[in-house]
Amino acid sequence: MKKLLLISPFFSDRVKKPTEKPFLIPPLNLPIVASLTPQDYEVVLVDENIEDTDFEQDVDLVGITAMTAQAPRAYRIADTWRKRGVRVVMGGIHPTAVPEEAAQHSDAVVIGEVENIWAQVIKDAETNGLKKFYRSVERPCLKELPYPRLDLLRSDRYIVCNVIQVFRGCPFNCRFCSVTNFFGNTYRYKPVDDVVREVQLRVGDTRKSRFFGFVDDNIGGLPSYAKELFTRLIPFHIIWGGQASLTIARDRELMRIFERSGCKALFIGLESASQAALHESNKNFLKVSQFKEAIKIIHDHGIGVEGAFIFGFDDDDHGVFERTVEFADRIGVDAAQFGILTPFPGTAVWEKMVQEHRIISDDWARYTIGHVVFDPKKMSPERLQEGADWAWREFYSLRKIGKRFIRSLNYGLKLAVPILIFQFAYRSLLKTRENSSKLDL
Ligand code: SF4
Repeated sequence: MKKLLLISPFFSDRVKKPTEKPFLIPPLNLPIVASLTPQDYEVVLVDENIEDTDFEQDVDLVGITAMTAQAPRAYRIADTWRKRGVRVVMGGIHPTAVPEEAAQHSDAVVIGEVENIWAQVIKDAETNGLKKFYRSVERPCLKELPYPRLDLLRSDRYIVCNVIQVFRGCPFNCRFCSVTNFFGNTYRYKPVDDVVREVQLRVGDTRKSRFFGFVDDNIGGLPSYAKELFTRLIPFHIIWGGQASLTIARDRELMRIFERSGCKALFIGLESASQAALHESNKNFLKVSQFKEAIKIIHDHGIGVEGAFIFGFDDDDHGVFERTVEFADRIGVDAAQFGILTPFPGTAVWEKMVQEHRIISDDWARYTIGHVVFDPKKMSPERLQEGADWAWREFYSLRKIGKRFIRSLNYGLKLAVPILIFQFAYRSLLKTRENSSKLDL
């Protein structure tokens, strides 16, 4: 039997491997590739965030996925296998953005989505006829796709093992985001029947098997679809979380369906406390003045909110860190992430920073959203790094966690306790994060 090894490299060479891994979710792209692979292949999946790659095993073909921060590690893995005479195919967000670069370390590069071309890649690999680049002419239809091979991952190591993607694409094209470039500017979605069958297949008897993560970038993006899907999922009694835009709070019917279908947490990109920064990001559809009311509506449906903020917009000055932490608490988010604006290749922010000669690091391993890689407009890179680190420490200080816990008791213990656990999990990661973000520009 032929053997295919699929690898998701460790997140970044610039980040220490944490001893605790409270937030890991499975990399869904590799189980998708595995599901498309002919049955006469043995497929082995390695997620380096939880295990190391065994370079001694015999394999016929290696596939490596990479986001930008993973790229240096991905290239080293690829070079090692190729030295051993094994052919390597690379794909994912980063190779799609810079295929010529990825091609220097691989025998073939898959540009964009894989579904329409993987069978051809396998065929060409078997006949020693791999081409340098593969790009599907049309975006894949998501109807009747095989179920991702999540069974090939070590499910006990992830916070949630039932991960499902129902949408691809996003029409908003925010200037810092790679999603529209990779998946296109319209929503494509799996038929509701397909998703219901997938949930039915995965749902089990244990409590953990009832946890689901919807990894779509905006699970409420098509409200009529989301209403139909989650209404159909109510009888399964699952508990789920996902990513959404704050605009979902405007649709009370959708919020009620989310609540009844078991939604307990939403990760929401709020990005900034400044409307000017949202404007700069092409995210004007969010109104800072409406954040607090929208979050209250979500809370009223028993759903916790983790808000994601970004520092480093051109509008951000020295006071942005304090203002943002204060704002995050004032609008009532239950947890928060504070990322640093990162000009990922292929995004509009990248184009702008290159044009303005503001990129200060071409070490992809630093493109983690935890490191400064560009010259900010209104402060030094060092100040941006220190400010972001301070925001994490301040938001997850014991004093603030305590205050947030008391506030969250208003939603009942069922929500307040998980929120508290979540915050302590973030707090436990602060040390690792700070060690990793030390500036060495
Ligand atoms: S940040 Fe969200 S809304 Fe904006 S383009 Fe990316 S996925 Fe779409």
